Amino acid sequence: MKTFKNFIAGKWVAPATGQYFENRNPADTTDVIGRFPLSGPEDVDRAVASAQDGFERWKRTPAPARGDVLRRVGDLLTERKEEIADLMTREMGKPLAETRGDVQEGIDTAYYAAVEGRRLFGHTVPSELRAKWAMSYRRPIGVAGLITPFNFPLAIPTWKAFPALVCGNAVIFKPAEDVPHTGTAFVEILLEAGLPPDVIQLVHGAGEVAGKAIVEHPGVALISFTGSTETGRIVGETCGRMHKRLSLEMGGKNAQIVLDDANLDLALEGVLWGAFGTTGQRCTATSRLILQSGIHDELLSRLLDRTRELKLGDGRKEATEVGPLINEAAREKVERYVEIGVAEGADLLCGGRRPENGKLADGYYYEPTIFARVEAGSRLEQEEIFGPVLSVIRVETPDEAFRINNDVKYGLSSSLYTRDVEVAFRALSDLDNGITYINAPTIGAEAHLPFGGVKATGNGHREGGWEVYEFFSETKVGYVDFSGRLQRAQIDNYPT
Ligand code: ADP
Repeated sequence: MKTFKNFIAGKWVAPATGQYFENRNPADTTDVIGRFPLSGPEDVDRAVASAQDGFERWKRTPAPARGDVLRRVGDLLTERKEEIADLMTREMGKPLAETRGDVQEGIDTAYYAAVEGRRLFGHTVPSELRAKWAMSYRRPIGVAGLITPFNFPLAIPTWKAFPALVCGNAVIFKPAEDVPHTGTAFVEILLEAGLPPDVIQLVHGAGEVAGKAIVEHPGVALISFTGSTETGRIVGETCGRMHKRLSLEMGGKNAQIVLDDANLDLALEGVLWGAFGTTGQRCTATSRLILQSGIHDELLSRLLDRTRELKLGDGRKEATEVGPLINEAAREKVERYVEIGVAEGADLLCGGRRPENGKLADGYYYEPTIFARVEAGSRLEQEEIFGPVLSVIRVETPDEAFRINNDVKYGLSSSLYTRDVEVAFRALSDLDNGITYINAPTIGAEAHLPFGGVKATGNGHREGGWEVYEFFSETKVGYVDFSGRLQRAQIDNYPT
C-alpha cells in the first residue's frame, strides 16, 4: 500500500505521530488508495513556523509575480485535468463529468486570481486638506489556515488558497480525511508551478486533532473553513476567543420552487440535477422541492419516473449518473433521516433503501429518494441531510412558497421556476439566501462571482469573485501631507 506524506518546511515528511489512516474508494471499499498521515500538534507547530518564514518572503514578492505563479498553476491543472478528475472520483465517488467540472472550477479560479495580482485595487480619494493625498490599499495578513470538506476536493481548496496566496499570505492546508489524495496532487502542482516551498504546508489528519491544532495555533492569523455547521460553530468559538479573522461556509437546506406557469421540462431537469447530482452532497444541493398545486401532481409523477431510471454506480464508469455516498457514516445519516421522514408521516415514494440483491454491495450506495406530502416545519423539511433525499412540499401561492423557503435556519441558495418576471424579481429581493437562481437549479455557482449564504450558513464573508480578496487582505490607509506644515483635520479647513 502506498504511504503518503505531509509537506512541511519544504519537504515531504512522515508525521511526528508515526500514525496513518487509510483512504478507500467509496464506490468499492476493497480498493485502497493509500495511507495518509494522522498528524498531531507537533506537525502543525513545524508547519506554522515554516509558513511564518515563507510569509516574510512572499509578502514582499510583488503581487503580479504572485499572480504569475497561479497562472502556471492554471496551466498545469489544464494539462492534468483528466488525471486529477480520475483520482478525485476514485476517492470521492462523484461521476467523472462532475470531477472534471471540479477541476475546471480550480482552473477558472487560478486564472481569475492570476489577473487579480495586477489589480488588488485600493482607493485614492481627495483629502479634505490641501497638498495632501489620502488612499487605501491592501496588505497581506499572515499565515492562513485552510480547512476544507470532502465534496469539492479540488475546487474548494483552490477557492481559498489562490486568493490567500495572491494577497501575499502563506498557507497551511488540511484537506478533508476522505479526500487527501486530491489535496496531495494540488500541493504538488503548486510546487511545480514555482510557489516557494515554505509558502504552502500540507498537514493531513483528523479534524478534531490536526484541524483543531491549526485553528488554535496562535501563529495562524486567519482561518477559512468550509464544512458542517456543527464544526463551524466549534471553529468560530475558538476564533472569536483568539480574535482571528474567520470565514465560514456551512450548511444549507436549499429549495427549488416551481410555480404553475413554469416550463416543466426545464424544472424537471433542474431538480434532477440539483437534488441528485453529487449524490446530494453539495452545500447547494436541492433538498426541498416546493410545488404550486396546479403542477404538483404532474411534475411529481414525471420526477418519480425519471428518478427511478437514474443510473447508480461507480463514478469512473461513463454511464453512471449518481455515485456512492462518501462513507458509511454519511449513509447511516441518510438512513436515519429516511426513518424520521416515515415516522413524521411523509409519503416515501421512491428509494429509501440501499441497492437490493447484493448489487453495488462494495460501495456506500443509497437509492435516490423522494418524499412527498412533507410538512413545512417537520425535521425532514428543516434539517440538512447531505444525501440523495428530496422532500416535496405542496403550496397554493408564490407567497406561501417564499415563506417556506425562508423558514429554515440556513440560507445558502434557492431556485425559482416561473415565466412571470414580476414574481422572479420579487424572489430575488425576498428570498433569504446568498444566491437565488431563476429558471436554473440551486447548484451552479461560477468562480468569478461571490459565493456564500446568510443565517446559519455563513458568517457574512463570501468566497469566490472579487469579495474573497477582501477577506484575505487587510485594508490600510495612507495619508501623505506635502504642504510642509501641520494641517489639522476637521479644524484647519473650517473657519472658526
Ligand atoms: P463534512 O461533514 O462536510 O466533512 P466537517 O465539518 O465534519 O464537514 O468537516 C469539514 C472539515 O473540518 C474537515 O477537513 C474536517 O477534518 C475538519 N474538522 C472537523 N472537526 C474539526 C475541528 N474540531 N476543528 C477543525 N477542523 C475540523
